[in-house]
Parts: sequence; C-alpha cells; structure tokens
Amino acid sequence: MSDRGLIFNIQRFSLHDGPGIRTVVFFKGCPLHCQWCQNPEGIGVNRNLFRYRDRCIGCMACQDACSGGAISITDSGPLIDRAKCRLCLECVTVCPAGALEAAGREVSVSELAEEVLKDRIIFEESGGGVTISGGEPLLQPAFLVALLKTLKEQGIHTAIETSGCAPCQALEEAVLWADLILYDLKLVDAGKSSYYTGGTNALILGNLKALVGKGRRIRVRMPLIPTINDDRDSLQQAAFFLREIGIDELELIPYHNLGTAKYTGLDLEYKLPNLRELSPGQIAAVKSTLNEYGITVKSEV
Ligand code: SF4
Ligand code: SF4
Repeated sequence: MSDRGLIFNIQRFSLHDGPGIRTVVFFKGCPLHCQWCQNPEGIGVNRNLFRYRDRCIGCMACQDACSGGAISITDSGPLIDRAKCRLCLECVTVCPAGALEAAGREVSVSELAEEVLKDRIIFEESGGGVTISGGEPLLQPAFLVALLKTLKEQGIHTAIETSGCAPCQALEEAVLWADLILYDLKLVDAGKSSYYTGGTNALILGNLKALVGKGRRIRVRMPLIPTINDDRDSLQQAAFFLREIGIDELELIPYHNLGTAKYTGLDLEYKLPNLRELSPGQIAAVKSTLNEYGITVKSEV
C-alpha cells in the first residue's frame, strides 16, 4: 500500500462537496481530458510548472538557476521550453516574485491526515468531513484507500468525488472505506463523451450501474456544460440511463470559466474559449427538462 501520493490543492470550508463543512483534497492525475476542465493542473500525473508573465520583474534568477537551459526571459516575462524542462522546480525556488509556481506536492498519508484533521472541530459541529477529489482520486488507488482508512479510524466522515473512469476493482475497494460517493455523470452518448472527454464512457456507466446495484451510497452530479450536455437529447439520455439503474435525483454543477487563465500559465490551449456561463433562466430550463424525464434536481453546486 502506498503511503505517499501527489496532491495539487487542499480547499477548506467547502459547502458543496458532501454534507456539512468540508475540506476537499485534490489528487493529481486524471484519465480524462474534459475540454471544459477548469483545473488543468490536475490532469497530469506529474507536477506542473505555472508561469505568470505579469508578475516577472526580470531579475534573471530563474534563467541562471536552470541547468537544463529550459527557461529564458523575454520582454514579456519567462518563456519555458517545456520539452527541455525536467520539472526540477529550481526556478520556482529562486523566483522572488512568484512568477513561477509549482502545482503538485508529494505528501504522506500521515502528513495529509494531520493537515486535514486541523478542522476536526468544524467537521464535528457542522456534520462535515473530508472529500477526496481531483483529478481522479482513483488514479492513486493505494494512496486513496490508505488515506480513507486513516480518516475512518479517526471517526471522520469521508467522501470521494469520482469520474467513475477507473478499474472496477479499485473503485469497489475504495468505496468500502468512503461514507459517500459523489459520482460525475457528464455524457451518456458514447461518441460525444469520447470527443469531449477523451475517454470512453462504457466504463463510467458500467461502474455506476454496478455500484448502485450493490447498494452503495451514491450522489450523482452532472457538470452542466453549455452547448455540450445541456441540450434536450443529452438530458433525456442522462435521465433515461439514471432511471433505468434506479436513480431519480442528481445535483447540477453549472459550468464556470474561472480557471481558463491557468491554461495560459501552463502553455496549454483551452479548446472552448467561447463558452459562457449559463444564466439562471437556462439552468431553470434544464431543471424543468430533467423533471419532465423523471429526475429531480436536488441542488445546484
Ligand atoms: S523546472 Fe527546472 S528544468 Fe524546468 S524551467 Fe525550472 S529550473 Fe528549468
Ligand atoms: S526569477 Fe521570477 S522574477 Fe526573476 S526573471 Fe525569473 S520569473 Fe522573472
């Protein structure tokens, strides 16, 4: 069992990722590449290097520190040759302006548990706990199970947020140690799913059906992405699939674009630059369509 894993964020005081007030731990690595993803630093299994041009003061310390010659300073800030960069993060250490930042931190289970348990009193008073998200937490299954067991031993309520895109056996083992599974359902249409998320959804749908069949505590959540899965056909397919496996409610997670600047920082292309957030009226229309097909929208995240 792995005692160490890679995380890229810890977010405290979350009200949307399970009951009560929660601390959310974001595991690094995801088998999907959803085009609308607002946490691109969570996708890769290794650490990432962000660059923020507007913070650079041109001191050249990073260029001098980089033994691989991967970084050069231009009039518009640091330029990174990603093919040469070995992610040693020496440049991050020497940058005095915060213009270079690392995403990804290796931690042990005990270190992580100690960190999240600082909020134990808040969990106890609010009925909250710890939610493990990502990325896809099941991409580090041994680390995930070890963390869940440790938190369980401490009497902490635990939840996993998963895309369901994980080997069935790993998912089965992890859910044994979690009090709640937050399961993302994005698209039921196989072709659209493959195009927009970079992965087949047969595994995702099959895993959800299997977990429900075994009576696991599941809360389905649908990221609601304008023009991609908010149309009547997509909603109808999702509703029919859920009804067929015995689920009649879900949570909606309407799209936001607060993380698109991260793509620039990582020198990645954001493929959906024209996507706009849904208006309250559009979200209400989606709720009403789902209702028409027998699905109640419990809440909106
Ligand atoms: S992470 Fe290391 S190799 Fe990459 S640019 Fe910085 S100093 Fe160079
Ligand atoms: S060390 Fe930081 S502030 Fe200095 S040149 Fe490099 S990126 Fe800019």
